[in-house]
Order: sequence, then C-alpha cells, then structure tokens
Amino acid sequence: MKRGKVTLVGAGPGDPELLTVKAVKAIQAATVLLVDDLVSDEIVALANPGARVVYVGKRGGCKSTPQAFIQKLMIAAARDGDTVVRLKGGDPFIFGRGGEEVEDLRAAGFDVTVVNGITAGLAAATALGIPLTHREHAHGVVFVTGHAKPGGRGTDWRALAATARDARLTLVIYMGVSSAQYLQDELSSGLPASTPVAVIQNASLPEQRHVTTELGQLAKAIAREHISSPAIIVVGEVTRALALAAQPQAPGSPCRVSM
Ligand code: SAH
Repeated sequence: MKRGKVTLVGAGPGDPELLTVKAVKAIQAATVLLVDDLVSDEIVALANPGARVVYVGKRGGCKSTPQAFIQKLMIAAARDGDTVVRLKGGDPFIFGRGGEEVEDLRAAGFDVTVVNGITAGLAAATALGIPLTHREHAHGVVFVTGHAKPGGRGTDWRALAATARDARLTLVIYMGVSSAQYLQDELSSGLPASTPVAVIQNASLPEQRHVTTELGQLAKAIAREHISSPAIIVVGEVTRALALAAQPQAPGSPCRVSM
C-alpha cells in the first residue's frame, strides 16, 4: 500500500515573509492542505494550483471543525498516498494542538514531520520592538494561555504573578483578551498595578494594532481601543522599551479574508 506523508507546518503569525524556507517548500510540495483559521490567504496561495485545500477553521463553514474530524481527514488523505500538509498558525507546537495531532498520527502508524513557525508571541513582541528577555528587565519569558482546555484546571495566575515578580519573567499571554478583566484581577495579586503591558492584535499583518497600558488598566484599555482576538498580551518591564523601535508594517493588502 502506498503511504503518504504528513507534515505539520507552522505558518507563522500572518505575514508570508515570516515563513521559513522549509515551510514554503513543504507547502509547495503538498497535494492536500488542511488549513487553520489564522493562516493568511497569501500563504495558502503558495500551494500548487492542483493541490486540494481544505479549510478546517471557522471559514470552512462551520463554527470550527471538530478536532477528531480533522485528524480523520489527515489520516485518510495520508492513507490515499497524498502528501499532506497541516498548516497551522504560528508554531505548530505552541498551543493550537499540534502535539495532539502528532500523537494521533503516530498512533495510526504515520511518520510525521514538524516544521517550526514563528509563534505569535514572538512576532507580536518584535512588531513593537519589545525585547522579551532584555537582561536589564527579565531573566526569562513564559508563554501561557488565557484560555484553558474546557473542563480542565485553569492557570494559577496568582502563583504565576508571584513567580514572574520574584524570578523577573516576562509573561506572553495567548488567547487572553476576552478574559482581560479576570487576568488583570488575578495577576494584580502578585504584580504591581503599574506593571507595563502591551496588547497586540493581528501582529505582522497590515491590520496590526496595539495598545500599551499598565496592568491596573488592562481591561479598560482593551475595551477602549476595541482590541479583539487574535491578540497577544505582554506583561512586564520589557514593554517599557517599546518606544524604541516599532517595526514598520509590510505594505500589502489585508490577507485575512473570510470565506
Ligand atoms: N500556534 C499559534 C497559537 C495558536 S492559539 C502560534 O504559535 O502563534 C491562537 C492564539 O494565538 C490567538 O488567540 C492569539 O492569542 C494568538 N495569535 C495568533 N496569531 C496572532 C497574530 N497575528 N497576532 C496576535 N496574536 C495572534
């Protein structure tokens, strides 16, 4: 039986120029692409015109395609001998369930390759010139989700705030804007209300926007500026340096089109 191959490819934060060379090669070689919501159309356009493109995010039609179905699709295509690329926003292994997909594919007997992408937290910080581990201000950085698995135990934000304070860590929060008030309240137990914060929406895309504020004003600032998902919240002294050099935006038309 001819067996296809599966590659999980990180599509980065949106700007096609932030793709790795390896990612471009894998996209061009694919005969089937399963594409997540946060992957821009310009990136999908790099695929071979003969490739089958399946949107498995919200723009695929349904609210979002159940994970089990995506996994079945991938396995079926690989069994048919296809070269399957699973295109995921950012990096496949930073949130976004890349780990679960690899486990399933391996359990089904397939070799899986993973290609890194630039994760949104890195792109968002760099877009504003925030050096996440500037040694004057931070000894490390934590990537953390503001949205825990349904039914699962959420992040202990109070413990994290105390650790961030004591160990001087920058917090990079994914999927946090809709629970900004909760995050603000919990983090304020360990971090001063004056801790600088930056929130970046649509990092690296032409429609990128941001707000800078203090932890004590986080929810208000997000509401006032109408910042919504997808966005990254960066908490820590390193965000003070951002006056330095916000990166110029790449020209071009908006590349997120809902279908
Ligand atoms: N694997 C992805 C993250 C998936 S979780 C990665 O490595 O980037 C989805 C979350 O990522 C969004 O809710 C948002 O918090 C963040 N995100 C993705 N793309 C973004 C972008 N262009 N700008 C800001 N945040 C983004």
